[in-house]
Amino acid sequence: MKKIGLIGGMSWESTQMYYKIINRKVRQISGGFHSAKCTIESVDFSEIHALQAINDWEALEVKMVEAATNLKNAKADVLLICANTMHLCSDAITKSIDLPLIHIARATGEKIKAEGLSKVLLLGTKFTMERDFFSNILAKEFNIEVLIPNETDREIIHNVIYDELVQGKINAGSRGQYIRIIYEAIKKGAEGVILGCTEIPLLIEPEHVSIPTFNTTKIHAEKAVEFALNTIAIN
Ligand code: GLU
Repeated sequence: MKKIGLIGGMSWESTQMYYKIINRKVRQISGGFHSAKCTIESVDFSEIHALQAINDWEALEVKMVEAATNLKNAKADVLLICANTMHLCSDAITKSIDLPLIHIARATGEKIKAEGLSKVLLLGTKFTMERDFFSNILAKEFNIEVLIPNETDREIIHNVIYDELVQGKINAGSRGQYIRIIYEAIKKGAEGVILGCTEIPLLIEPEHVSIPTFNTTKIHAEKAVEFALNTIAIN
């Protein structure tokens, strides 16, 4: 079994989900007492959040490369950034660290394609919805059209993530807002919704909406297990 290296703490509320999903999947596939070989490099999210707020992506890249280096030194065979937003630093990591990195958008694109969908709503932080690092992969590599909410609704989605979800607060009113925003996208032709922030699955579950949900935390974590157990290759 290969060793999975996780850059976590962004936030730890979702990193604990990664740990659980990865171990459950290994047990499901390998049975018995099997559990995942993995190592988590967990950062202080306050430092990350402060740098995001001033858009200092160079400093964030330095932090991510440092975390990835520590995972490489811990003998990880593969890297995961346990957040969608921080994939803005994925190129910096792959340029400096000689390890495969499983990209969350690519793993999600494969899943959407397998479901046969071609138009989906993307929910995440403003960085994820407004910058193109996620939607470009879906458009160029999978021919999937990505819808995002209007500006006011993007603000709502973003604020719920930082003011509530990363702090472990689950609020029924916020869930209602998310559901309203998803139904508005359904009217515009969305066939599925990407829960493109690793904490959103703590708020929105498949039964809350009538279209398929793509839980990026689960998709990403399970892809790592497939790699660790040698069922897929990553290029
Ligand atoms: N976990 C989040 C994501 O998936 C947001 C927290 C962050 O800014 O990294 O985008």
